[in-house]
Parts: sequence; structure tokens; C-alpha cells
Amino acid sequence: MTTTLVKDSLTAMDRCDRCGAQAYVRVVLSTGGELLFCAHHGRAHDAKLREMAADITDETARLRAEAGSSLSD
Ligand SMILES: [Zn+2]
Repeated sequence: MTTTLVKDSLTAMDRCDRCGAQAYVRVVLSTGGELLFCAHHGRAHDAKLREMAADITDETARLRAEAGSSLSD
């Protein structure tokens, strides 16, 4: 398997596997599967996902940017 993976941005078409919200985290499993999570579930499963993942695309920063600067984290 080559490593010419195109890092497609997640879009509004990508939905969280758990709740159906827009996905901001894509997890490519070392076993070959792929999971999508919203910011909430990506964070909730973060530790577990990092054990299983070959690659994680985290675009939750984009969500914060869209939410505006009024939110302090
Ligand atoms: Zn979710």
C-alpha cells in the first residue's frame, strides 16, 4: 500500500458515525477501516482512537474558527 493518500478535507457530507452530526475528525484505522466523528465524539473517544488509528485527521480547529472568537476555551 502506497502512502499517496490525499488528505481530503471533511465536508458537510461527512457525518459522525455515532450521532450523525457533521464530522470533523476522520480516523483511518490500522486495520484499514475508516471512522468519522463529530468534534464531541472525536474528543470523547480520543484516547481509544489514538491506540487504533494509523492516521487521524482532526479538523475541529475549523469548527472553532467557524464558531467565532466569542467562545473562550
Ligand atoms: Zn457525534
